[in-house]
Amino acid sequence: MAQGHLIPAVDTALLLATHGAVCTIVATPATAARVRPTVESAKGSGLRVRLAEFPLDYAGAGMPEGVDNIDNVPGEFIARYFLAVARLRAPVERHLRAGAPYPTCVVSDFCHPWTSELAAGLGVPRLTFFSMCAFCLLCQHNVERFHAYDGVADDNEPVVVPGLARRFEVTRAQAPGFFRNPGWEKFADDVERARAEADGVVMNTFLEMEPEYVSGYADARGMKVWTVGPVALYHQSTATLAARGNAAAIGADECLQWLDGKEPGSVVYVSFGSIVHPEEKQIVELGLGLEASGQPFIWAVKSPDHHGEASLAFLRELEARTAGRGLIIRGWAPQALILSHRAAGAFVTHCGWNSTLEAAAAGLPVVAWPHFSDQFLNAKMAVEVLSIGVGVGVEEPVVYRADRKEIVVGRATVEAAVRSVMDGGEEGEARRRRARALAAQARAAMREGGSSHANLVDLVARFQPRDVVNGTTTTTPPRP
Ligand code: UDP
Repeated sequence: MAQGHLIPAVDTALLLATHGAVCTIVATPATAARVRPTVESAKGSGLRVRLAEFPLDYAGAGMPEGVDNIDNVPGEFIARYFLAVARLRAPVERHLRAGAPYPTCVVSDFCHPWTSELAAGLGVPRLTFFSMCAFCLLCQHNVERFHAYDGVADDNEPVVVPGLARRFEVTRAQAPGFFRNPGWEKFADDVERARAEADGVVMNTFLEMEPEYVSGYADARGMKVWTVGPVALYHQSTATLAARGNAAAIGADECLQWLDGKEPGSVVYVSFGSIVHPEEKQIVELGLGLEASGQPFIWAVKSPDHHGEASLAFLRELEARTAGRGLIIRGWAPQALILSHRAAGAFVTHCGWNSTLEAAAAGLPVVAWPHFSDQFLNAKMAVEVLSIGVGVGVEEPVVYRADRKEIVVGRATVEAAVRSVMDGGEEGEARRRRARALAAQARAAMREGGSSHANLVDLVARFQPRDVVNGTTTTTPPRP
């Protein structure tokens, strides 16, 4: 549904399959096409995983043909898109009933409340999947359950997040609650109900990074939480790292060759994820800031279709001025490949949780530049909790706002943030040390004996078909 949800969900399925589960990944056709190479390669290595495709009823939902991922659904069709996805319940249930083995558990993204009925219809438990950190989920949950915004008229007035041992401030604009936008009241309530009624939570994070928030969220919800990340560490080969989530706009060899020519820890990688498209002014300021920083950089600017001629001309000129030092990727970047290269030195990120966790797993400090949604809390996680980040000073949502307020980070701020995160002094070194320590913990969590490894094993064991005889499932489907 959105790359930031799909990619870690697929990795999680592959990890569960690695530990013995049979996994069916449900996706719409265009979305499935993006992850098919990864799934096929996993099948080739013996994992029991399959991709089941379900087209949306575009005409029935009054939507343009073929738009089936948040990054290609025009804004005015988003609500219809969610309705169209919810209509997949019956065909998905029929498909799962007809196949073998009969499912033992539904693991579904929190944006799909309709999967409660799917699991109930199948007579199996349902776990909510979050590619979010426990810190973010607990902060959001606490401001809502303790009514922290009550009586606060200004959306940009900070309130203290209640119920935590440490003091963190957040504004309603930064953390309004999931789907808590005008017109989305019913959907937001459905999402919350489905989360509250789930049989457990699967989270793309790892225990050692945020033990108090994992246990805090489990206690607050009264549910078991399985932390299974960083799921990106499933990918170990160049081929699957490079193809993760989509076909990259640059060949793996070309990208690696460019990185091989740079000093270890010197390259600043810049990306705002799969959804955000900066406006022309911001492109110019960001580009000039990167240029002035003097650092080598890779900048993922997404497809040229999203930019006007002036932005494209600016990028061409910047490319010419920084030839050999700057690499601009127009389209999907092989992010996991870039971050895992020894030349990578820091990540200027919008703080989508996947990107934040991928930086931590690669041992890289970040420049935290949140744009919307959970990104503000993730930025706090990077800067205030983990102390591996430098903030860029954005305190209000940059996109999806009702007014047209323009928020542009200037070139001098960009340059200062990049210089600060790459700083060779004590502060910069301490930040890098903490990031490297996190990366070591992340790898340990995923290895045998590690916390995420143990959770994956536990998940698979708990949801084994009850009557597996010599590898054949004989479980009888419950009656509809
Ligand atoms: N990603 C990538 N190449 C790109 C853009 C994004 O590989 O050019 C991946 C990135 O590694 C991450 C996901 O897409 O796994 C983006 O998720 P995140 O939560 O960081 O941000 P979102 O796209 O949801 O805003």
